[in-house]
Amino acid sequence: MTVLVTGGAGYIGSHIVRAFRLAGLDCIVVDDLSSGHREFVPDGVEFIDTNILDSTLVAKAMVEHEVEAVVHLAGFKYAGVSVQRPLHTYEQNVQGTVSLLQAMHEADVDKIVFSSSAAVYGTPDVDIVTEATATAPESPYGESKLIGEWLLRDAARAFPMHHTSLRYFNVVGSAVPDLYDTSPHNLFPLVIEALLEGRTPRIFGDDYPTPDGTCVRDYIHVADLADAHVVAAQKLLAGTQLEPVYNLGSGDGVSVREIMTAVADATGIEFEPEISDRRPGDPARIVASGELAARDLDWAMRHSLADMVSSAWNARQNHPV
Ligand code: UDP
Repeated sequence: MTVLVTGGAGYIGSHIVRAFRLAGLDCIVVDDLSSGHREFVPDGVEFIDTNILDSTLVAKAMVEHEVEAVVHLAGFKYAGVSVQRPLHTYEQNVQGTVSLLQAMHEADVDKIVFSSSAAVYGTPDVDIVTEATATAPESPYGESKLIGEWLLRDAARAFPMHHTSLRYFNVVGSAVPDLYDTSPHNLFPLVIEALLEGRTPRIFGDDYPTPDGTCVRDYIHVADLADAHVVAAQKLLAGTQLEPVYNLGSGDGVSVREIMTAVADATGIEFEPEISDRRPGDPARIVASGELAARDLDWAMRHSLADMVSSAWNARQNHPV
């Protein structure tokens, strides 16, 4: 049984590939290395260096490798930057998903797990987001993820397509020392890079209406997230009907300042973060219930915040660049 992972050379995708292999399922990876890394794809996994917009090549790979399900992560993932690059974001995320679905249709592959995002909710006015919370994306990135979900839904109305979309909250940590988050925009890698370079980590705003004034997020460990993808794909492969969307959140909010303290504890480096201006577009708080995913996808927080921080730090230190 072979699963195609688009974006499988990225930080999250490469964890998912490893989780599939641990579960005894073969994978192939399609990735154009725009933000992924060739060395994140393990030996023995077929790697196809192309963009999913090349529908013909992707369909050919599906047929050649007898792919039965797709886990779709490939796309432009920087929400903040997407505001300046809307056309690129829509091309990669919307046209890219259309092209992938065309390839699947052509190759008779009818199961897909889609990587969606908390960004579809924008700034929710509830303490705990559920799948019933209204979507209101605030960036081309968030819009494009929501459109991706609609594309799956509409494809499934027109031809056989068994699908689910997983809305990720803040994915952090490392499951294996080889893989780490290389994003130049996210909190964990930015704090770690600053400490490695002897700079002071920065908090973007401490005047939010939250208990300590810094933004509150829902941090989840990439290993737990990867396992949820395996369960979702296995269920689709077994013919189980899944919900169209699941939130992968913990139900717990952690502030940026609390993350800074956890980083100081994990690394043994004492520092007082610098406070800078708010980053435009950051909601004060976004935290989700993962109850639906716990019911259907064996979703659980199997790693503590301390694990998230120390595994991220250790993996990054393994890779001096
Ligand atoms: N953040 C911060 N300093 C940084 C990077 C991020 O204070 O160097 C904050 C950011 O403003 C947000 C939180 O950390 O409130 C998480 O940001 P990230 O980009 O990791 O994820 P987001 O929730 O924006 O998707």
